[in-house]
Amino acid sequence: MDKWQKRAAERRKQREKQLRQRMMIAGGAVVALLIVIFIITRVAGGSKVEKKGSSSEAASSSVTGENSAVSGANGMTGDTTGTVADTSSTDSVLVATVTGEIAPDEATVTPNPDDPRAIFAVDPNKTDWNFDKDGDKVVYLTLDDGPSYLTMQFLDMLDACDVKATFFVTSQDPSYADCIQEAYRRGHTIGLHTSSHSFEIYKSVEDYFWDLEQIGNVVRDQIGYVPAFIRFPGGSSNTRSARYAKGIMAKLTEEVQKRGYQYWDWNAETGDGNMLSVEEEIAEATSCDYNNIVMLAHDGDLKEATLEALPTIIQNYKDRGYTFKPLDREAKVIHHEVLN
Ligand SMILES: [Zn+2]
Repeated sequence: MDKWQKRAAERRKQREKQLRQRMMIAGGAVVALLIVIFIITRVAGGSKVEKKGSSSEAASSSVTGENSAVSGANGMTGDTTGTVADTSSTDSVLVATVTGEIAPDEATVTPNPDDPRAIFAVDPNKTDWNFDKDGDKVVYLTLDDGPSYLTMQFLDMLDACDVKATFFVTSQDPSYADCIQEAYRRGHTIGLHTSSHSFEIYKSVEDYFWDLEQIGNVVRDQIGYVPAFIRFPGGSSNTRSARYAKGIMAKLTEEVQKRGYQYWDWNAETGDGNMLSVEEEIAEATSCDYNNIVMLAHDGDLKEATLEALPTIIQNYKDRGYTFKPLDREAKVIHHEVLN
């Protein structure tokens, strides 16, 4: 058992312990509530019963993984055009306590006008994106759907691997918003995924941009600016959006670029949208040999397998001469074929 397997086992134990604690807290809250109701009914009309705020308030966070298989991407020469099959989604729901127990080590980032990464801010005047250049072997690891209760563990894992990545974030669990700041402090790029991660955002251009503005505001509060880098839920090639509006992706892919954003799809993935085993994720993720790889993975709830698989995946690519970089304005833009 190597150190990562040991750490993963420890994490699983921690997670099980957290779940037990949450169940105990929830059970305790129910008992307390029953007692309060009992007292109120018994002392009706009598002295006031002061009810303290429950420490076990729970927020539901729905997690949707992009389940798309990419094939036919061309890494060495031309554009990378993926043929994408939109499979059924595996939505899962996890109840997380609002009082997130995994707090950032030290939240030291404050909005800073001198921040060199402020050039990553959305800017309609900057349109010189790199669609063609395909130089050194590089992997852009991207983690969607967070921040989550796993984000701090992802950050520690990436530090241990000496890798900078890109987090396409959501507001699915606002109690972890400060993890965005911590990820940024540790050198990772922050991109916008969506606020709600609901496909209802694809009802109209207005609905989409309303949601994008919400997550943009959350990120600006954390790092000082609204990033230009975005990823569409389901990728630009998703066909699920057609249930909400025909042709919406064709409109949005054009409109976001007009407004100074750039969207990234992917040409490799861990396959964790389909809840694969650690071994399956490693096999899936290491099967790519393009020069410029944008790898899709998820920092969402129940993605422990990804957390466990990534060190092996990272080492595999390093052994093959790749370097890992966070997205920046020079990174090769990967777009899928728009199918709706
Ligand atoms: Zn997502």
